[in-house]
Amino acid sequence: MGRFAVEDPEVAELLDLSTGRCERHADVIGDDYEKALQLRMQLQTDLRREQPRYVCAMCMTPVYLVSRPEGRKFFFRHSLEDGRCSAVTRGLLSQDEIDARKYNGAKESWLHLEMKSWIAACLHADPRFSEVVVEGRWTGSFSGEWRKPDVRASYGGIRVAFEIQLSTTYINVIAQRREFYRQEGGLLFWVFAQFDIGARRLTQEDVFYNNNRNAFVVTQVTRDESLRQRRFMLECIWAEPTLGGGVSELRCELVPFDALTLDAGTQRAYHFDFDRERDRIAKEVRERKMARLKPLRDKFEAWYTAHATTSEDDNKTWGQLRRDCAGEGVALPEYPGMLPRGLLNVLYSTKHGRVIGWDYSNFIQIAHHVEPGLRQYLHYFRAALKAFERAELIRSEDLSGKWAAKVAEYKARIAQGDAAYKADKTHDALVRLLFPELFADEPA
Ligand SMILES: [Zn+2]
Repeated sequence: MGRFAVEDPEVAELLDLSTGRCERHADVIGDDYEKALQLRMQLQTDLRREQPRYVCAMCMTPVYLVSRPEGRKFFFRHSLEDGRCSAVTRGLLSQDEIDARKYNGAKESWLHLEMKSWIAACLHADPRFSEVVVEGRWTGSFSGEWRKPDVRASYGGIRVAFEIQLSTTYINVIAQRREFYRQEGGLLFWVFAQFDIGARRLTQEDVFYNNNRNAFVVTQVTRDESLRQRRFMLECIWAEPTLGGGVSELRCELVPFDALTLDAGTQRAYHFDFDRERDRIAKEVRERKMARLKPLRDKFEAWYTAHATTSEDDNKTWGQLRRDCAGEGVALPEYPGMLPRGLLNVLYSTKHGRVIGWDYSNFIQIAHHVEPGLRQYLHYFRAALKAFERAELIRSEDLSGKWAAKVAEYKARIAQGDAAYKADKTHDALVRLLFPELFADEPA
């Protein structure tokens, strides 16, 4: 290899961003002159598109291929010389620093090899896996594109690609692979050599936050345990949501692969379901709050329905309600006459399935009042119809079909972005306090 490569190149080792692997410069240049020239063109094109394929393994700067006129020789050069590369600026770095960089690069490629063999050993030992292949091609069923995962295997009916996450795996590589395996109906499963709990690196976080906050580590220890149990065991690092809406310290435990939740649709594999737990906690917090505020809601409702019927002002109760609501962050107006009565009539009527606050004889008249009279509150009305299950009541009273026709029309107008239907949220805090049922489906 390397007939066309110079002997003492500036950039001796390259990182191939399409595979995440380190290559010697002579291997990349190859033995085919025509191919080398095509590569040279391709690298220039990639650089202009800011999608470099090869970077210097020492400093991660994108490179291009230079041809030396005498003797048909090629070498790589940094696309940007800013003095950070030890390959160029030998004089500026101490020998120790140069050695440390080289050592880190070498250590990482050595570790990569070792981890591949560990993962393969675990998969071979676990009878739940079949068709274990190291560095085999995975050719796309539709696109004809292919990838070469570090290790692949079949697990149940699922094809899994195991990729070792190294510090040099870039986000664009992660994203491309993820999409490839998703389209394939397979699962991309990232494996770390270590997960720095203290100072998490960006490349780790790219995977962690896109995997329901779970990460998996394979080490010699997990390999030995897998062989002993004949079951693929991994170290799982995960986070848990806390009651206050925060996130716990990272947890760590040895878990079997066969107990993980695998989701090829979202390309996630996890031991602890962070998202579900966060939703459960949010629901619990909301329910507790609902229960705590029930006496206030009931008191307001009793006062309001009496007030709406008799129009008498009970100043003492109103004063208490104002104080209690203010304590929950909801400001009531100074006088009851300043309340949004139409809105409250609509929502209390819908809640109880009978007319409250007006002289209408049928519930359907409330609906006709909202559209067009209070159409700025149509969003609350529709949420209330759903929350209090009044669809059937409306249908049974809509003998003429006029309401059904109105619904079809307002839906079309809303879809067209008609400004008349812009949701009025002036009283949102009050509505949330009095009618929490309307917001039960909201995400946390
Ligand atoms: Zn460099």
